[in-house]
Formats: sequence, structure tokens, C-alpha cells
Amino acid sequence: MYYLHGTSQINDQGRLEIGGVDTKKLTEEFGTPLFVYDEALIRQRCREYVDAFRASGFQFQVAYASKAFCVKAMCRIVAEEGMSLDVVSDGELYTALEAGFPAERIHFHGNNKTPEEIEMAIDAKIGCFVVDNFSELPVLNSIAAEKRQNVNVLLRITPGVEAHTHEFISTGQTDSKFGFDLGNGSAYKAVEEASKLSSLTILGVHSHIGSQIFEVEGFRMAAERVADFAVQVRSELQVTFKVINLGGGFGIRYVEGHTPLPVAVYVKAITDAVRENFSSNDYPLPAIWVEPGRSIVGDAGTTLYTVGTTKDIPGVRKYVAVDGGMTDNPRPALYDSEYEAVLANRATEPAEEVVSIAGKCCESGDMLIWDLSLPKVENGDILAVSCTGAYNYAMASNYNRIRRPAVVFVKDGHADLIVKRESYKDIIGNDVIPERMKQANQ
Ligand SMILES: *Cc1c(COP(=O)(O)O)cnc(C)c1O
Repeated sequence: MYYLHGTSQINDQGRLEIGGVDTKKLTEEFGTPLFVYDEALIRQRCREYVDAFRASGFQFQVAYASKAFCVKAMCRIVAEEGMSLDVVSDGELYTALEAGFPAERIHFHGNNKTPEEIEMAIDAKIGCFVVDNFSELPVLNSIAAEKRQNVNVLLRITPGVEAHTHEFISTGQTDSKFGFDLGNGSAYKAVEEASKLSSLTILGVHSHIGSQIFEVEGFRMAAERVADFAVQVRSELQVTFKVINLGGGFGIRYVEGHTPLPVAVYVKAITDAVRENFSSNDYPLPAIWVEPGRSIVGDAGTTLYTVGTTKDIPGVRKYVAVDGGMTDNPRPALYDSEYEAVLANRATEPAEEVVSIAGKCCESGDMLIWDLSLPKVENGDILAVSCTGAYNYAMASNYNRIRRPAVVFVKDGHADLIVKRESYKDIIGNDVIPERMKQANQ
């Protein structure tokens, strides 16, 4: 059953409408595939985090993990909502700076920041680096020293907490490419080393226990371990953490059976856990930072496709192909992710058949949804797939030289183009034919 949320509703013509705009009109104006973002819902999610932290009395920063969906207009919304921004590459940093995002609210993540990326970020005067490993520490320190700048750092630790989630997207356990391990003493050593580096200021520690998490226990455990570590480090190394960053990973509802908690419940569990564990140790209460990505933009995004061909294999399966696929949504192929969809142009008609939605790439694994109940599907119908706002456009590719879709924000009956559909020129824009081949062709 398609789940209507945010400003999505079915209008009098029986068509899906988002942000007060008929999806049929959107496809006529912008073509398909098309990413449609419910701007009011994005802002609502931002405010749920900010309001919940305000109510807690803690100092805080809510940093949107821009990797979920990083384009200039999105950075603008995040800035307007008073939040901070995580970047993990020069490209994301460049996007944020070009959007005019306040540099002091940008945090730089990643397990392999290049010296060029570090220079770019220091030159921009970003707020903080989240240091991931021992190789990074001296490089960051020496570049900062060369530039006569002091940089703020959080040290990313792996607290050994496993969130219940798909194994490909979990990062909190000991065997991880990310962070300094708490259990084997690496985290302790990292604080010791970083505190000796004169161009770095340790703000505190960071932990991210996974993604698409539906319970609070993992965050509570992480807060407890971080607090124990903070107490040890303060008494033995005389380093006091002013910031505790507990990462992102708050789950959303993609399909029935996914049961995310309200944002305020996650935030309360986190702030309560930090308060209990730090105050019981007589430790000055740190600021709390979090980094939601998926839960800010995931359910605000819907992808509209046009139905093309069908292939009915009697007694086996009926394939319905759409004009996109793994190029705009690689998550089913990568993680077996599930999605819900509706025929947007005939949203009130009863289901008549069970079909599977295929993409148009030359790849058998290019499937979007298995066994979906729909009215009798016809060529030209519009298929709306919900909850495609996070890690879809961000992971889109040009495989098969398919042009990346356009993206629109809809709100109060208006649609604004925020990313143009790629052109044929864009597709070949970086191709170069060497002189010798040009001549050989004449
Ligand atoms: C991916 C990631 C996030 C955001 O995760 P979501 O599941 O999208 O909320 C936050 N912090 C770090 C370090 C990450 O790698």
C-alpha cells in the first residue's frame, strides 16, 4: 500500500500531487525520470531536530550529512534552517561553498582526505575536521602549521556498538575501515598523539554506529562508552571533550514494516544518555552534535518515471520497464533496498496485477521493485517511487550513458528546478579525441 506522507495527496483527478503540484503536470514540464522533493517536509525534518535539541537545554549542532543529497539549493535550505553541514570530499565542500554555506559550520569527514582537500578546507576556514586515522593526524597538523592556522578536530572513534541494520552499511563495529578503535586502545593513543600536535585543537570525539536505525539502544550504548572514555582521557591525559558527536543513522520508513521513531525520541534518548553518563562522572556537560542525512531528505524525495515496455512471462512474472533504473537508484542493486510505488496518474484505481519494475540498463540486476501490486499498467503511465530523497541522486551515474535526471523542489503549488537534466553535451563534455585519431578518421 502506497504511503502518503508530507504534502503528498491524491487530487480530485485521482492523481498524485506533491507540494500542491500535480505529478502529471510535473512530468509534462520537466520530463522523466524526475526527482521531486517536498520542500516543506525537508524543512519540517530539519526543525524536528533543531527544536528537540533546543528543548534539551544542551549546546548543539545538527549537521546535515550532505552525502545523502548534495546540491546547491539543498545547502541553502540547510543554511536557512540554521544547521551545520558534513562534507566528505572536495566536491561536496566546493558545492557548499558555492552555495554560500557558512564555512565555520562545515565539518570535514572521511577516511582518506587528500592533502589538496585538507588545504582547500583550511583555506576556506571550515569549522572542524573529523580525523579518521593515524596517517591523517600529522598531515593535517603540518598543513595547518604551514598555513599558520589552528584547526579544530574531532577524533572519530569506533565504539564497538553494532546497530541492527544491513551489514554493508554498518560502520560501528571493530572491523571497520573508519575511525580509531576504542576497544584496542587506538582511540586513547589518538587523543594522546593529537594533544601533542600544536596546530590542532581537540574539540572532542565522534562516533557513527550505522544507518537506518530504528531503536535508541545503540545510541545510548555509544554515549555511555564515549562518556567512560572521556572520563579516562580527562584524568589520564588532561584533555576535556567539549563536543560529543553521535553521528547519524536515524531510520526512515521506506516500506511497511519499517518503524522509525519520531526524531524527538531519538534526540531525547541521546541527550538523556549524555546527561546521565557525564553528570554522574562530574564532567562538564559537552555540546552534542548529530549528523542526520537520510532522515532529513529521504522521505521527502519521490522519483517519477514513465512506463515503457512490458514483458509477461506466463506463470512466472511480468516485468514492467521504466525510463530510469540503477542509474538514478542503485540502492536495490547495492543493498536489496525495498521501495513502494503507485501509478501517479491513476492513483485511486484498484490493484489488478502484480508486476516487477525493471530499469533500462543492460544489467539483469537493474531492478527497482519486485512484486508490486498495481492497476493494469499501460505504456505511458507515470510510476511514482517514494522515499528516494537520500542516496539516490547522490549515487546516480551515467552508466549506459544515460543522462542524470532533473531535480525539482515543490512547495505551495510551485515547482522550482534545482538541478537541470543532463544534456547530450554534458554526457560527452569531458571526452577528448586525440589529434592522431581525428586525422585517421578523415
Ligand atoms: C553516512 C553518515 C552519516 C549520515 O547517515 P544517515 O544514515 O544518512 O543519517 C552521518 N555521519 C557519518 C560519519 C556518516 O558516514
